[in-house]
Amino acid sequence: MAEPAVSREDLAALLRWYVDQGLDEVVGEHAIDRFAAPQPAIVAPAAQPARAPTPIRAPVPPPRAPVPLESPQLVEDARALAERCNTLAELEAAVRAFEGCALKRTAKNTVFADGMPGAPVMIVGEAPGGDEDRLGKPFVGVSGQLMDRMMEAIGLTRAGGFYITNILFWRPPGNRTPTLAEQAMCLAFTRRHIELAKPKLLVLAGGVAAKAVLDTTEGIMRLRGKWASYRLGDGTELPTMPTFHPAYLLRTPASKRQSWQDLLAIDRKLKELGAILSS
Ligand code: URA
Repeated sequence: MAEPAVSREDLAALLRWYVDQGLDEVVGEHAIDRFAAPQPAIVAPAAQPARAPTPIRAPVPPPRAPVPLESPQLVEDARALAERCNTLAELEAAVRAFEGCALKRTAKNTVFADGMPGAPVMIVGEAPGGDEDRLGKPFVGVSGQLMDRMMEAIGLTRAGGFYITNILFWRPPGNRTPTLAEQAMCLAFTRRHIELAKPKLLVLAGGVAAKAVLDTTEGIMRLRGKWASYRLGDGTELPTMPTFHPAYLLRTPASKRQSWQDLLAIDRKLKELGAILSS
């Protein structure tokens, strides 16, 4: 019996499903059915002809193994590079020139920061998504738009009230959760980023950012809504509020109530610190 033709609606639904799963790139013109591909034949190694004995030579040291990507050495390199930067512009140039993170190879853009450098609030999220990767700016997709509306509700905008970045400067393929090695490498830059941006307080959006910056295994459900303290290199303690990621709020609107409490706490803290810009 002939297979029923696939309708346009079904094809559109399939494409939407692919996009929802993070498959938003096509790498070839034709689909390849790997299951139908013939198995490679196992070829027995050809018999080696008898060889003359090798003359004895002084032992040569084996070549040094290449430094694997995302090794602890690369984290150290990132830290050393970041420490040498004395301005945000220098740090941005160092991040853009850094070749140690494999994510850079699959990303379209380096996503550094947006908003007002030196603003009283600095927000740190997880990693760029598809829209951010395309446009080269953090939090510009739907979750970024929600973030903007939330901050605006307490009088803060990118134009004057907050500065925003991510732990990761490059989009992980398919928006997968960044590995700990990827986080460690980018975090070396992000820690310096926080020191150079000198905010009055820090907001950590989502569990990945909160755990990484606060160096804890505690989940966001326990961390959110409670002031933590982030110690800068010079010993200053920065009030830090972990809160839900806006992408989580889009999936779980009932949690917006708790986020609103977090926003009010941020607003109160800014007033306490005398750091409020607008009424
Ligand atoms: N989610 C993030 O954590 N960061 C972005 O920039 C966009 C979405």
